[in-house]
Amino acid sequence: TVREAGGNNISSLSATSHKALHRKSMIEKRLLLALDQKHLEVLYQPQFDLSKGKIIGVEALVRWEDEEIGVVSPDELIPIAEETGLINNIGSFVIEKACKQAVEWFKKGLDLKISINLSVHEFRDKNMAKTILNTLSKTGCPAHLIQIEITEKFALEAEAEANIIKQMRLLENEGIVFILDDFGTGYASFRYMQLLPIEILKIDHTFIHSLMMSEKNQKLVNGIVQFGKSMNITVLAEGVETEEQREVLKNYGCDLIQGYLISKPVNVKEIENIVS
Ligand code: C2E
Ligand code: MG
Ligand code: MG
Ligand code: MG
Repeated sequence: TVREAGGNNISSLSATSHKALHRKSMIEKRLLLALDQKHLEVLYQPQFDLSKGKIIGVEALVRWEDEEIGVVSPDELIPIAEETGLINNIGSFVIEKACKQAVEWFKKGLDLKISINLSVHEFRDKNMAKTILNTLSKTGCPAHLIQIEITEKFALEAEAEANIIKQMRLLENEGIVFILDDFGTGYASFRYMQLLPIEILKIDHTFIHSLMMSEKNQKLVNGIVQFGKSMNITVLAEGVETEEQREVLKNYGCDLIQGYLISKPVNVKEIENIVS
């Protein structure tokens, strides 16, 4: 009967969400353990200066393969970590790892800045700036070697916004550079450009992927590059995969590119091989 069919639908639906909930709580539990035992890893992806023709920095990207649940991609991991508050632990882990790495490369004479990803939600923690500055001094890392990529996916309430600005200004005064990540897809890309001390704008990969598909897409990307120039801001394009995309971006006057064309995210050794 109809009623039975409906009943079955409901029970199969809840079975699906039960499975999702189960996976989420598994991830939460295993993540706590992984953080405790420092089982997370970080890969680095080169950022290439188009006019200098060389790699000037790398982006740190977290990687996690758990013994029991296998690989958990950042796209699954980060939202769960944000929801549970464990994002701040991931942040601390990546920051410390990046600072140590930056110092090691600096000592080897490799001139590489490291960008780390922080969601604006991590700045809800009123001690965020202090934590970062403590890590810098603890590891002996000069502030100019660390850059912070900020992503925003949701609107923020005014109070949180005011706190974020305060924290960012503190770090800016110490010489930390901020990159606005995923530019063009966020809830408030232009508002953030106006409010926050942003020095580099990172064009989201979706605009780069569709770059060669239409004149409209090219005008859009060129527009973002010219906007950055008029604001005196460095423009970085992410997700660059082809020579054609690189040439077009170079012609627009885009400053930096990042993507599989240069290299996928790789480990420390491979970065050292690429740059030396
Ligand atoms: P994102 O910061 O925008 O990083 C770029 C993502 O695009 C990375 O995915 C990178 O591996 C991928 N990518 C790079 N070049 C190309 C390309 O040419 N083509 C394509 N198709 N993809 C490319 P990943 O590592 O899976 O990270 C996804 C997102 O997770 C990141 O986006 C970032 O928002 C977040 N994330 C990663 N690590 C961390 C972290 O340590 N902390 C926080 N808060 N977020 C992180
Ligand atoms: Mg990023
Ligand atoms: Mg991005
Ligand atoms: Mg992204």
